[in-house]
Amino acid sequence: MIRQGSGRVRSTRGGGAVASARAILDGLAPDGGLYAPEYFPYVPRDEIERLAGLDYPERAASILKPLLPTFGADELAEAVNRAYSRFGGPDAAPLRELSGGSYLLELYHGPTLAFKDFALQLLPSLMDQSARLEGDSSKRLILVATSGDTGKAALEAFADQPDTRIIVFYPEDGVSEAQRLQMVTQRGANTHAVAARGNFDDAQTGVKGLFASAEFRQSMRGRGYILTSANSINYGRLVPQIVYYFSAYADLIGRGAVRLGQPVHFCVPTGNFGNILAADCARRMGLPIGKLICASNRNHALADFIESGTYDTRREFYVTTSPAMDILISSNLERFLYELTGRDSGRVSDWMVALKNDGAFSLDDTERAAFRTRMLAGWTDEENSRKAIARVWRDCHVLIDPHTAVGADVLERVRPDDGNPVVLVSTASPFKFGMDVAKAILPDVPEGASDFDCCRMIAEATGIPVPPSIAELPGLAVRHAGRCEPEGMADVVESLVG
Ligand SMILES: *Cc1c(COP(=O)(O)O)cnc(C)c1O
Repeated sequence: MIRQGSGRVRSTRGGGAVASARAILDGLAPDGGLYAPEYFPYVPRDEIERLAGLDYPERAASILKPLLPTFGADELAEAVNRAYSRFGGPDAAPLRELSGGSYLLELYHGPTLAFKDFALQLLPSLMDQSARLEGDSSKRLILVATSGDTGKAALEAFADQPDTRIIVFYPEDGVSEAQRLQMVTQRGANTHAVAARGNFDDAQTGVKGLFASAEFRQSMRGRGYILTSANSINYGRLVPQIVYYFSAYADLIGRGAVRLGQPVHFCVPTGNFGNILAADCARRMGLPIGKLICASNRNHALADFIESGTYDTRREFYVTTSPAMDILISSNLERFLYELTGRDSGRVSDWMVALKNDGAFSLDDTERAAFRTRMLAGWTDEENSRKAIARVWRDCHVLIDPHTAVGADVLERVRPDDGNPVVLVSTASPFKFGMDVAKAILPDVPEGASDFDCCRMIAEATGIPVPPSIAELPGLAVRHAGRCEPEGMADVVESLVG
């Protein structure tokens, strides 16, 4: 029997329990903390085995129900059917064998071609149900800071949703041409995308500032809106991401590649720590995960933290070819630390104050050791990521994007050698990053070629077609041309909301 969760969550910084539905509507806790489940449901082995015979929406319904026990089972089932029907077939999260014992979990077959679709395609339904459960009929204003993929996934998910308006801020420098065009050509009368000067950390800090401002909230209230977030700080983003780890394990069982109960390692290209955190939640729910391998690019504050026990964000920020991982302050780390310390919200609050004031904090030796039993880490540079794209194409005839390539390269060096299978999580389609993928696998990319020329050349060389949603981008009208300073975000929102 599955043991259900309580349907309530608590802030990582303390205080009483609140309903999951309230948490999904509010995004961040009022004390600035993140919501974490009061306790995790437990999924026993025979239930994991049963998942092997189900399609993805059925697996999602089975795992989501114990996480959200106050939500209607029929409504959840209907919501997952609707959400995952847009993922190109019954297998929304296909697991592909790379070589003996190594697998690729492809999470980029959703409508915007990045793993963010798994949570965001479901989030509007989760918010609607939450609003009904909470008896909250306010209009929703969704504010998003994006490093590239969340923005488009959120715009696409919330476009033309009734009583909802969505505003996305993306860093002016540091998203690919395809990512930028995906956002600025977004349709829907309720959608807005705005370029913010600076990097992702600046955009994220700016948006967090709006959430923290009582005055700003009040002003939006006056216009009939409650503020909510579609960033991975929202509990509603975390929950759907837990499903695909169960799904991958069920696929391995179905193929006879693991014995029920045998540990499987996962390597996750990491930025804001949301995806890898979902894997850790799956493990806390009973999924036999061995090590989680946290892969970073040149912005490797996280990898260093896992190695040394000191999280130090006082360092240079690099713009890389894996922009979704160009993050120094990883929000979801807070949830992981909360669990790691046995839910010591005092300890977590102290760390977050130190992070804010000094840019750094340290674990003690016991905490550091506990961290390292759950996670390994590594990082890689631009040159080696590029080579990893070429190597995986040459050796396995599989095309990976620059984020997945960071994971692939880290895995070469940090792979546990206990004979258990390893799953590399593939987070985006290579065609979102045409230029960088072309430079990795083609002998020669002509000067002046656009991202889209590159996509065509890749398709020609590999026989893998360009996804239609990318091929159409250069022909679409630009609908969102606004830009602002991070300090000017409040004004922008006020003028857009009217
Ligand atoms: C968002 C994203 C990541 C990072 O995921 P986190 O949950 O923020 O750690 C990695 N790769 C791609 C392609 C992404 O879009």
